[in-house]
Amino acid sequence: MSTGGKVSVSSNLSNIRAALPSGVELVAVSKFRPVEELVQAYAVGQRIFGESRPQEMASKRPLLPPDVRWHQIGHLQTNKVRLIAPFVELVHSADSVRLLWEIDRRAAENGRVIDVLLEIRVASEATKHGWEWPELVSWLEGGEFRRMESVGFRGVMGMASFTEDGATVEEEFGRLRGMFGELRERFFGGDGGVFDILSMGMSGDWPLALRHGSTMVRLGSAIF
Ligand SMILES: *Cc1c(COP(=O)(O)O)cnc(C)c1O
Repeated sequence: MSTGGKVSVSSNLSNIRAALPSGVELVAVSKFRPVEELVQAYAVGQRIFGESRPQEMASKRPLLPPDVRWHQIGHLQTNKVRLIAPFVELVHSADSVRLLWEIDRRAAENGRVIDVLLEIRVASEATKHGWEWPELVSWLEGGEFRRMESVGFRGVMGMASFTEDGATVEEEFGRLRGMFGELRERFFGGDGGVFDILSMGMSGDWPLALRHGSTMVRLGSAIF
């Protein structure tokens, strides 16, 4: 009958918020967590929740207040886009042309624009999803993305290698930031555009991500 869980969600959140520079957004990654824990986080002001499974997001949504902002953070299968298209605020894991067209189609069906981040692979691990940099650049050069009228291109997302080696992680975050800047300048209107989100940093590495200019961290185990 302990309230330990409740205390720790709120104290974890307040410790993290105290350490986040202003302008950096916090996505509370609530995948696999019970709704009560999301309610606890909501009660202390958390509004952005990240889920990796569309079904789970869609089933939790009606159980939370309507001002929650739902983010898709994990790999998104094309055939699941329709489940979240009516309400998702941001898809962090846009990693293929096929997925982007499906997001475009489902967004249009719902009369909205869905914001996305281009997920870029910077880690050395072979299993990670995401665009390979040269392929992403050549696809953008082709200009097809300009016809996706219901997709809002807002920035990039990436995950660093799972390693204790901080230098490797920092190198990867630094590289991702460079890619973000280059895409913004070349394709998305530079400072005058809305390509302004650099989503990097998880529970194990977010202080390093902040050092490299992250504007949005995605934290699960550090909160719940
Ligand atoms: C699970 C997940 C996170 C959160 O991971 P933690 O280590 O628990 O903070 C962040 N981003 C993505 C893409 C994830 O899948």
